[in-house]
Amino acid sequence: MRDVEPGEMLIFSKDGVKSNKNHCQKQEQKLCVFEYIYFARPDSSIEGVSVHEARMRAGKVLAKAHPVEADIVIGVPDSGLDAALGYSQEAQIPYEIGLIKNKYVGRTFIAPNNRLDQVKIKLSAVEDVVKGKRVVLIDDSIVRGTTSGRIVRLLRDAGAKEVHMRVSAPPFLFPCYYGTDIDSQENLIACHHSIPEIASMIGADSLGFLPVENLEDLAPGKSICKACFDGKYPTSIPKDTRKDRFERRLSEIKK
Ligand code: SF4
Repeated sequence: MRDVEPGEMLIFSKDGVKSNKNHCQKQEQKLCVFEYIYFARPDSSIEGVSVHEARMRAGKVLAKAHPVEADIVIGVPDSGLDAALGYSQEAQIPYEIGLIKNKYVGRTFIAPNNRLDQVKIKLSAVEDVVKGKRVVLIDDSIVRGTTSGRIVRLLRDAGAKEVHMRVSAPPFLFPCYYGTDIDSQENLIACHHSIPEIASMIGADSLGFLPVENLEDLAPGKSICKACFDGKYPTSIPKDTRKDRFERRLSEIKK
């Protein structure tokens, strides 16, 4: 019927639905740009902006910013697929399904201390599609770089001749204090390495990121938070990390 507003509580009872917005301070609202890049489902619309179309736009911008000679464009399922389609349309390079998400093996079957490659468990390369091809590989972000490296290896093992990685977000440089799971810059590969260094570390022939100035294109006219990429947080930064706050809260509960 409508979006639940930030800071709004909806109370459902036998008397109907009541909205309460009185328990939060009024602040300038900013929408997390990562909703469009990664978090949200592609069939959703946030503040009237289609997530699928936002990702398509990111793919088109990437194709203009980082063109490359290639035979096919593929996306990493699920959140890289829409941007891959956008890249393919803009670059006029055929879109293909080169990676399949493995629906049939669950984590339940894997021992906690296993040595199996988690990426191989979750994804398979379609050999008939990628063998002998120059592949443009689209993913939504690179955080630590380990997953990207394994996906590139998966494609090379399946016979890809070249792998050009394109990322539908800018380099991830600053931690999020509002909800994502990375709370230390130590874990962010882009904080410690240049783009050519990251390309070589993940084994890609070339690497290109969405330019930070194009983030606004994802949700035109919306006021967005893009602090993970430009470090401009919309609120003052808490001195402690989320982990500190979680542990403090846990000890309060235990008392
Ligand atoms: S810091 Fe990044 S992940 Fe966190 S709200 Fe802002 S854009 Fe979203």
